[in-house]
This record gives sequence, structure tokens and C-alpha cells, in this order.
Amino acid sequence: MSARNTVVGSKQSGSKGPQLRVGLIGDPVAHSFSPRLQQPALNALGIPATYELWRTPAEQLLVRIRALCQQGCLGANVTIPYKESVLPLLDVVDPLAAQIGAVNTIVNRDDYLHGYNTDAPGLLRALHEHGVGSLQADGTISLKGYTAVLLGAGGAARGAAFALASSGIERLVILNRSLERAQLLAALIQKSYECPVFSLSDPNFLIPHSSSIIINATSVGLHEEVSPLPADVLARFNADTFVYDMIYNPIQTNLLLQARTMELRAANGLSMLLHQGALAFELWTNQPAPLEIMRAALMR
Ligand code: NDP
Repeated sequence: MSARNTVVGSKQSGSKGPQLRVGLIGDPVAHSFSPRLQQPALNALGIPATYELWRTPAEQLLVRIRALCQQGCLGANVTIPYKESVLPLLDVVDPLAAQIGAVNTIVNRDDYLHGYNTDAPGLLRALHEHGVGSLQADGTISLKGYTAVLLGAGGAARGAAFALASSGIERLVILNRSLERAQLLAALIQKSYECPVFSLSDPNFLIPHSSSIIINATSVGLHEEVSPLPADVLARFNADTFVYDMIYNPIQTNLLLQARTMELRAANGLSMLLHQGALAFELWTNQPAPLEIMRAALMR
């Protein structure tokens, strides 16, 4: 990701400047945790900006995107269902976002709209925060030696698969209800990365390896108390397995409960939400995100 050249007005510079705006484009958006995360961060750095919810019906998407070029608009976050469909509406798309085929952050840079994907690096930062992987001299996270079992093959799984493959993972197993979708994602990853990628639709065929990371990128557990992985399959995994559920609301899913009952290390998706938000903040403002302020706001 390239950095913005202009630092947005801060406490340090004492600049007042005009009122700035940034917001979330999606439909629906009312449930989002992003304002809760971003507004305290903007306030803490003295940036005179408001983080707004921009519910956008499909027929208004183009107008909404072009409005991001207006003076005082820093950019936007993008959520369901537009992470893929905004790509052709932007002026420049970051290579990682282009590879994933999804943008969750737009930056207005001198009236040119730049698209990024901060979900993928946000996931790696979250895993590292939970003690998984190592930080390299260039700031990237290495997952060398780990096997990742990725549950799901939808939008979130796609970003996760590219992030995992780029981190030097030893092997990637994609497990999805629809085998065809898992196979398509595996084939896509295999085009750019050398790590072996396997696709499965039946969890009973999973072969546990040491140093495994299990990541739930399905929506199973979001609305019902069910797990995307049968407990007897999870029980076969080694004691050093780390279980990450991208779901953050509810904070304790059935999968996390199963993992914790088996004394496996486990965490929910709040850390990924935090890190993708911090990376987006840095792209809009070119200032380090006040991570602990954002974390505290999210946990409140
Ligand atoms: P998609 O709709 O694109 O994908 C849904 C996935 O869930 C597919 O793999 C689908 O399988 C699977 N699935 C859905 N229902 C079932 C079911 N009943 N049984 C088995 N599999 C099922 O959603 P997203 O990828 O956008 O989001 C997935 C999850 O990730 C959501 O819970 C979302 O909240 C979370 N997320 C969290 C983020 C964070 O920051 N923590 C960021 C982004 C997403 P199939 O292909 O067979 O249909």
C-alpha cells in the first residue's frame, strides 16, 4: 500500500481547516461497528472529520462513489454488498485488492479514488496479535510452518486465502459447503502462490497437522448456535491449534465455545475488525492509528 502525501490536520499541527467527512458505503450499514471505531480515533488526533453511515441502494452506488471526490471528503469504507462491484468505479486499485477482487477502503487523493483491501492484512495483524506468526523486518507477518484450515469460500474467505498464502503458509486447506466454490478459490490462489492448496467439502476428510490455524470465514454461527466444524473433527486437532472466528457479533460463537472447551487457543473477529479499521484510518489520514483508543472504543 502506498502512503498519502498530505497529513490530515492534527492536534500537533494545530490546523483547524474545514470540516472533513469519511463514511461507510453499503446496504445495510446501520449495524456497523465502524463509526464506534473510527470517530474516537479521528477525535483523538484532533482531525476535524465525521465518520458517517452512507446507506446506498444499488442504483445510487455510482453517484455515491463519485461524490467521494468532493472537497473535504477523505474517502470511505465499503461493505456488503459492494466490495466487489466498486472496483470498476475507481481510478486506481491497489495490486492486493485487485488480486483479491474486493475493496473495503477508498481514499480520495487529489480527486482520484484509490481502492484498497485492508481486511486481508488486518487478518494477519490480528493473528499476530494472538501470538500466531512472526513479524518480519519489512513489517509483514510470516506464517511459515503453519497449516491453515479455512472454512468458507465467500468474499471474506477469498481475502483470507490470499492473505494466508502471501504470508508463506506451509499448506492451505479450503473447506466449504459448495466444493465447486472451494475448488475455484483454490485454483485462483494456486496461480500466484506455490504453497499446496487443497479443497474439501466434507470436514471428515480433514487431516490435522501440527501448528494448525483454523479460520472460520463462513457465516455459520452468525445467527444460530451452530458450528461450521463438527466437535469430533475439532477434537482431532493438536493442542497447539489456534481457532479464529471472523464473526464478532456474537462475541462467543459455538465454534469458539467448542475450541475453548477443548482448551484450544481461540479468538473472535473483533481483532480483525480493529486492524482493518486502523489500516484504513492510516490510509485516509497518513497518520499512525491510535490503536489502543480504537480497541477501547470497540470493547466498550
Ligand atoms: P459470503 O456470503 O460471501 O460467504 C458465506 C460463506 O458461508 C460461504 O462460504 C458459504 O458457503 C458459507 N455458508 C453460508 N451458510 C452456510 C451454511 N448454512 N452451511 C455451511 N456453509 C454456509 O459472506 P462473507 O464472506 O462476506 O462473510 C463471511 C463471514 O465473515 C460473516 O460472518 C462476516 O460477518 C465475517 N466477516 C468478518 C470480518 C471481520 O472484520 N471480522 C470482515 C468480513 C467478514 P457456500 O459457498 O457453500 O454458499
